[in-house]
Amino acid sequence: MTERELQTPCYVIHKDRLAEGIGLLKTSLEREWNHFCVGYSFKTNSLPYVVEEMKKAGFYAEVVSEDEYDLALKHGYEKIIYNGPVKGKRTFLHALEHGAIINLDAKRELAWLRESGRRDVTVGLRVNFNLEALCPGETSAGEEGSRFGFSYETGELKWAMDELDKMGIPLSGLHLHVGSKTRSVAIYRQLAGMACRLKREYDLKLTYIDLGGGYFGGMENRPKFPDYVKAIREELSEEFTPEETMLVMEPGTSLITPPIEYLTTVVDTKQTYANHLVVTDGSRIDVDPLHGKSSYFHKLLYQGTEEEMEARQVIPKQVVCGFTCMENDRLFVIEDQKKLQEGDRISFQKVGGYTICLTPLFIRYFPAVYVEENGEYRIIREAWTAQEYSQKSLY
Ligand SMILES: *Cc1c(COP(=O)(O)O)cnc(C)c1O
Repeated sequence: MTERELQTPCYVIHKDRLAEGIGLLKTSLEREWNHFCVGYSFKTNSLPYVVEEMKKAGFYAEVVSEDEYDLALKHGYEKIIYNGPVKGKRTFLHALEHGAIINLDAKRELAWLRESGRRDVTVGLRVNFNLEALCPGETSAGEEGSRFGFSYETGELKWAMDELDKMGIPLSGLHLHVGSKTRSVAIYRQLAGMACRLKREYDLKLTYIDLGGGYFGGMENRPKFPDYVKAIREELSEEFTPEETMLVMEPGTSLITPPIEYLTTVVDTKQTYANHLVVTDGSRIDVDPLHGKSSYFHKLLYQGTEEEMEARQVIPKQVVCGFTCMENDRLFVIEDQKKLQEGDRISFQKVGGYTICLTPLFIRYFPAVYVEENGEYRIIREAWTAQEYSQKSLY
C-alpha cells in the first residue's frame, strides 16, 4: 500500500523512528548505568501493535490499572511494573505471586500484602514530596502538591516503611515519578537527589530506584535520553552503584509520541463573512483529546501538478477544522499560504502519546492505524464501525 492509498483519517506509525527512540534509550542506559530496566508506560499508548513492539524491545509493561495489567498478560509480558493509586486486588495478588515490581501507592495495598502472607516479593513505595519547592513552577501539580505516593514530609512514607518492616518484607525500591510541565533535566537531578537523601536518612538497602517517566524524546532543541541518563547517573552515584541498584525508567511519550503521524484529507472549503474555513475528515479530538494544545507539528500536502500549484492563490488566513459538530473543533490557522482545496491532505506529526488511547468515541468511531516500514504501509488496526461500537451492549 502507498501513502496515497491510506484511508483517512488515520494514524501512521513510522517504525524506523520508533526503533530510533528505543535504541537511543538503551544505549544511553548501557553507557551510564548498565543495570537497568525500562517499563513502557501503557497508559500513554497501549495500542496492541505498540505493546507488542515494546515487548520485543525487551521492556517491561508499566501498568496502572487492572485492565492494563490484563492487557499486559494478554500480550505475554512476563515482566510487569504495577503502579498507580487504584490497583485491583486480583491483579495485585497475581503480581505478588509472579514476581512483578509493585510500587505501593495506597494503604489497602499494605493490607493485601499482609493478607497474602508472602515475603519473597519485590515492592517499592511511591514517594510524595515537595518537588515544587526544588523546581519552582515546573511540576504539574504546582503549589497543590502531587496526589500520588506516601508523603515524606508528613511521615506517611516512614509509616509505610515501618509497616513493611513489621511484616518482615524488605523495601526493594523507591518510585519517584512526578509529572512536570517542563520535562527538564533538573527534575530528574532532584528526583535522583531525593532517592539519595532517603537512602541516607532511613539507611535503606535498595535493589532499585524507579524515576518514572515524563521525558522528552525526538524533539529538536529539547533534552534527549543521553542528557537525562547522564544527569541521573551523576546524582545517583552519590549513594548508589549499578552493581547494587537497578535504575528503572518508565518512558511513555518520549518513545511513542515522535513516531506517530495523523493524516487527514480536506473535504470542503467555505468562505464565511468571518473566515476562510478548511474542513477536514480529521478532528482535534484525535490529536488533542484534552484540548490543551495550541500548535501542532504539521505539513500541508497539496495534491496537483506543478502547473496547478502555480495557479493556486496565496491567501492570508485559512482555518483548519475537523469533522465533529463542535464549534471548537478548529485545529490551527494557516497564514499566507496557498489555498487548500478538496483532496489535499494535512498531516500532523508527533502525536503518538495521549491520543490514540484518549480519543473518545464521539460522532465517529476509532480511526484506522497503519505502520510504515521502508516506505511500505500496512494496516494494523482497522477503523471501528457501528459493529465494534455496539459490541457488548444489550438492547
Ligand atoms: C504517566 C506515567 C508514566 C509515563 O509518562 P510519560 O510522560 O508518558 O513519559 C510513567 N510512570 C507513571 C507512574 C505514570 O503515571
